[in-house]
Amino acid sequence: MADRIAGILDRMQQAMLSCGRVDTVELMAVSKTHPLEAVLAAVDCGQLLFGENRVQEIQTKFPETRSAYQVHLIGHLQSNKVRKAVGLVDAIDSVDSLKLVRLINTEALKLEKRIPILLEWNTSGETAKSGFTDEREFFAVLDEAPQLQGVEIRGLMTIGPLTDNETMVRTAFAKLRDLARTCSERYPALSFDTLSMGMSQDFLWAIKEGSTMVRIGTAIFGGRDYR
Ligand SMILES: *Cc1c(COP(=O)(O)O)cnc(C)c1O
Repeated sequence: MADRIAGILDRMQQAMLSCGRVDTVELMAVSKTHPLEAVLAAVDCGQLLFGENRVQEIQTKFPETRSAYQVHLIGHLQSNKVRKAVGLVDAIDSVDSLKLVRLINTEALKLEKRIPILLEWNTSGETAKSGFTDEREFFAVLDEAPQLQGVEIRGLMTIGPLTDNETMVRTAFAKLRDLARTCSERYPALSFDTLSMGMSQDFLWAIKEGSTMVRIGTAIFGGRDYR
């Protein structure tokens, strides 16, 4: 585990050097389907940020209070799971509708919380994938955001297209970067510092296109067994 994490951090560093980046890129370890023991082994290696894509799994896997490390939801969130999610996670990185933003806000306010969120944009155009595809709805969220005290927008997230075609993947990541820039210009009071993009297969390309957070599962924890 230590070797795998160190290897990834090293490759991230190489990618940054190769394009002259001197800022930082955060590593999120995606622990879905892997047991708490695997998470704790990673924590022992200094890895303190984890991603999970199902609310139910977060509830059963993790202890109720944890202070050493953070868990973000990165999978599609159904309306009926919002209340539970807001009580369980440190951030929701896969927010993909205005309705969801409002619901998260309402539930967070009830718990006197302010939940950091990322807005997920569908850069690949693959309809099966989650993420905003409608600019009007997306910008409606940003128009409303200053009134929503229960959520704090931190940036954008995307899942790249499932292909090993470098141009296609990088074009999708560049789209998210450009969208974040447009957002910063149009909404100077909001923050779009986090660009969550890049997974095991494409994180080097994502870093070259400006990712500030890569989400790595397989390359850290090995393959997933869904049985
Ligand atoms: C599973 C998952 C990842 C990690 O994928 P790997 O290919 O295993 O690195 C990243 N992001 C999201 C949204 C995921 O669901």
